[in-house]
Amino acid sequence: MYILIEKFGLIPGWLLGALIVFLRYSMFAGITFSIFYVLKRQAFQGLKIQEKFPRASHMLSEARHSAVTAFVFALMGVGIYLLRRAGYTHLYSDISAYGWGYLLFSFVFLVLLHDTYFYWVHRLMHHRKLFRLLHRVHHLSHNPTPWASLSFHPLEAFLEIAIVPVAVLLMPFHPLVLFAFATWALFWNIIGHLGYELFPKGFVHHPVWRWLNTSTHHNMHHSRSHCNYGLYFNFWDTLMGTNHRAYRATFDHIKERRNLNMKMMLSLLLLLSLPLWATAQQNKDYGTPEERATRMTERMEQALPLNPGQVTKVHAINLKYARRIQEEAIDTEMNKLSAYFRIQKINQIKEKELLPLFDEKQKRNYESLKSEAKRQAMARFF
Ligand SMILES: [Zn+2]
Ligand SMILES: [Zn+2]
Repeated sequence: MYILIEKFGLIPGWLLGALIVFLRYSMFAGITFSIFYVLKRQAFQGLKIQEKFPRASHMLSEARHSAVTAFVFALMGVGIYLLRRAGYTHLYSDISAYGWGYLLFSFVFLVLLHDTYFYWVHRLMHHRKLFRLLHRVHHLSHNPTPWASLSFHPLEAFLEIAIVPVAVLLMPFHPLVLFAFATWALFWNIIGHLGYELFPKGFVHHPVWRWLNTSTHHNMHHSRSHCNYGLYFNFWDTLMGTNHRAYRATFDHIKERRNLNMKMMLSLLLLLSLPLWATAQQNKDYGTPEERATRMTERMEQALPLNPGQVTKVHAINLKYARRIQEEAIDTEMNKLSAYFRIQKINQIKEKELLPLFDEKQKRNYESLKSEAKRQAMARFF
């Protein structure tokens, strides 16, 4: 924000800041929404907290409210800028002034402060005299999706983060910490409104993890209202006895249906981190389609194993689809995320041709070869 305003002036800096906040929200919400509600909806079905899916018009209105929130959040940035210019804040730009230890401490402190602040302001907003004015908009979502993450009344949006400008008046913060905090807050908001429970079985009973709130926790706040007020941590809900009585049982119930194993968690992490590489160069040295197909056939020949008659057929199929991947995903200027999905799609079509050639044992070996290849692809990424 600081740079934007210095460069473009107060109002354009504010508008640009709002745009950035909104784009960041759209990116986070858009990616998680595409994965969980569109592309992999079937695969994650068992982890859905409420079985119904909300209407598109509803999500559109959540996105509209979130756009307004972006303007309010950016306005807070302008406020902090003005306070800083007038010399009231303790913002500092040289990390060595307080050291890395303090940088880390100030981040943790801000998160804990915001968690406490949010719990009490949130409870206050549920008071019947304040609820209609401030908090009703957010509770229009009974079955939230990631699009609800910033769906607030403008006044609530203001209250949500009003503690931040106060904090910078009282103690030293590096702008990097404020940026990290904003990202952290958005991340947890997305988790809270995801609609799917991704944390593993036993999470809510673990001596340490139980203190972290889950998607189920905030989802139940939306479906039931007078419970589960906390934001990041469960300290205040536990202390004040405001956790819903069935919170942990509901979590367990979802995990009985389906538990996300480590492999799926890793794939998910990979999917979520793909946009980071989205603009990076993508056609690294994987060789020509001919080289890739030959490598693939050789591996299959050993692992399945293939008989000489099969080798020719399998190689023809491998080559055909390696060329198709080259043309449709590698040679195009497509970003990495789209290319990833395109390649997946092509591989699915290829499998339909490949599998009928194999007997049962070969099919099983093919599956393990495939998961091994996936694991290696993932390792390459990291
Ligand atoms: Zn609420
Ligand atoms: Zn909410």
